[in-house]
Amino acid sequence: MKEFDIAAVCAHPDDAELVMGGTLAREAARGRRIAMVDLTRGEAGSRGTPESRAREAAEAARILGAAHRESPGLKDARLSATPEEKDAMVEVVRRLQPRVVMLQHWRQRHPDHAAASRIVYDACFLAGLRNYRPDLGPAFRPAKLVYAVTMTEATDLAPTFVVDITAHWETKLRAISAFASQFTPASGETGPLPLDRFQDAVELAGRRHGQRIGVRYGEGFVTREPLAVDDLLALGGSSI
Ligand SMILES: [Zn+2]
Repeated sequence: MKEFDIAAVCAHPDDAELVMGGTLAREAARGRRIAMVDLTRGEAGSRGTPESRAREAAEAARILGAAHRESPGLKDARLSATPEEKDAMVEVVRRLQPRVVMLQHWRQRHPDHAAASRIVYDACFLAGLRNYRPDLGPAFRPAKLVYAVTMTEATDLAPTFVVDITAHWETKLRAISAFASQFTPASGETGPLPLDRFQDAVELAGRRHGQRIGVRYGEGFVTREPLAVDDLLALGGSSI
């Protein structure tokens, strides 16, 4: 398998669409080769089945323009950054060889999301150690890890950079809508459709990030390290 430019790695199917879907669509549109990895198949979710979610995940990847999507099948609602979970991801990193890995921010309400962030960071580190589990593939380490700012929590979290996704907003929404089973209430379930709540939250997050850089819609990301700058005149955004 040819290596990938970008790997988006999140805990559950549909996580990536919500917090980095616009950026994935934008990068795919400029010809970047993108892999999506769902650590779990979302089998603990109250709606849909693993099979329906797998079909929806494949369709969402197609909409975004990702070349590949897979899941190592870790246990949903049980992610806890064990050595076994990290090793499953070490194998994936070494095989896909992404230059950039997009993952979830470590500050999270959902324990799986926080664990996913830890699993992916640790796996990217371990994957680069030549003498660590050589049976999992040749050593490889991604150049860059970028953490997606959570959609509804941690609103005080300032992104390191924001990607203008205005031109890909509709694509992002279509990819989210591909997960129809997640937005269909289970029998006996009442109250507002989850889709309504999601749409509000997605819209708000996209507008909030977009506003930071003076565009309509954006997605915010954090890096642990400062970004290296080569050309002052190429810095994006406006200061005043
Ligand atoms: Zn999730």
